[in-house]
Amino acid sequence: MAGTMNHQKSEQLYERAKKCLPGGVNSPVRAYLAVGRAPVFIERAKGPYIYDVDGNSYIDYVGSWGPCILGHAHPQVTEAVRRASENGLTYGAPTQKEIEIAEMIRDCMPSMEVSRLVSSGTEAVMSAVRVARGFTGRDKIVKFRGCYHGHADDLLVKAGSGALTQSVPDSLGVPADCTKNTLIAEYNDEASVQRLFETNRGQIAALIVEPVAANMGVVPPAEGFLPFLREITRQNGALLIFDEVITGFRLGLGGAQQYYGVEPDLTTLGKIVGGGMPMGAYGGRREIMHLVAPAGPVYQAGTLSGNPIATAAGITTLRLLREQPQIYDKIAAHTETIADAVKDAFGDQVQVNRVGSLMSVFFTGERVTNYETATTSDTVKYARYFGYLLEHGIYTAPSQFEAMFLSAAHQTEDIEKTCDVVRSYQTQLSMD
Ligand SMILES: *Cc1c(COP(=O)(O)O)cnc(C)c1O
Repeated sequence: MAGTMNHQKSEQLYERAKKCLPGGVNSPVRAYLAVGRAPVFIERAKGPYIYDVDGNSYIDYVGSWGPCILGHAHPQVTEAVRRASENGLTYGAPTQKEIEIAEMIRDCMPSMEVSRLVSSGTEAVMSAVRVARGFTGRDKIVKFRGCYHGHADDLLVKAGSGALTQSVPDSLGVPADCTKNTLIAEYNDEASVQRLFETNRGQIAALIVEPVAANMGVVPPAEGFLPFLREITRQNGALLIFDEVITGFRLGLGGAQQYYGVEPDLTTLGKIVGGGMPMGAYGGRREIMHLVAPAGPVYQAGTLSGNPIATAAGITTLRLLREQPQIYDKIAAHTETIADAVKDAFGDQVQVNRVGSLMSVFFTGERVTNYETATTSDTVKYARYFGYLLEHGIYTAPSQFEAMFLSAAHQTEDIEKTCDVVRSYQTQLSMD
């Protein structure tokens, strides 16, 4: 297969970007540092395809990291945005569309009886944690190593290996005082959670989890793990927060909570809920959410919250998903086809984890069930795989520890072409 693309304009833009943006980008993973090359700069995208400034086209499996479940520039979403924008971009006053989307969210996820709209996943999570602390009158929270919940200070924590109870900030600029109430457990390890609840009795406000971990690569919850988290939080008077910023409207209309049949106290949403516009949401039972200002004493506000363009894109996206729930079977089947092709090509040199349309290929021989096993992956091998795919028109995440995101716009031909490229890479490898 031919694979010589020209990236000259992207390279020039990257040099220019580095002079005025930190690292040349506005979000770190976009810079391709983990795969050791210059990022491609995007000009436009349509359906399953993304086009760079040098005129190369790719089948896109990043989908803006999750939101684009209908594919890029879906005509009805684009039209809703265009129409909404003609009526003004923001008012800072209530609109009917905010009620409509809150009602749609509640219909899909009944545990989100009352929700608050915000502008990003980060904002949704930090606000949900504040509400949980306000509701319980406790300060400590439990999170899992390798789960990402946005970049709020007290959630940017990576525990050193073995140091399960000691929380070291993950970033310069985060005071140790901000993370001292963040306790770290191991994903899929019930005993690690049990120990934290035993040693911090009566002090834990909430446990937050990605119900399918998707920020250390995709790691599904072990059988019984989510029900266990439900039970132990309830027994200890702590709230269970599902961070469904990725899984919400991705695993199905009802998110992971419906997929696994476990109901959290609070849920955070982002990505798909905004239909490609900046929007997030958090919500839960009325008695908890009515603590949020102005209904109650937990303060949280936003100039652009419930923005009319974002709600228009979100409502249209959710409406299309509700009208065509068969989309979920289609994208899961397409994802499985790719998963099978990768497994066939690489055998036990890789692990392929998949839940519905969330999938990761880990370059390791070890089964990946948590952060420790995820990080046994050979990131150099991943970088080569990524580079080959990119040069052959397949755009995947420039990091081993991200998910692959399919959309309803991907057609069988796109999936077949992708599988062909995977197989040709394996053939080339075996000849080297
Ligand atoms: C992306 C993500 C966030 C943060 O959302 P932003 O909109 O990037 O702030 C939070 N939690 C999870 C699980 C995510 O994947």
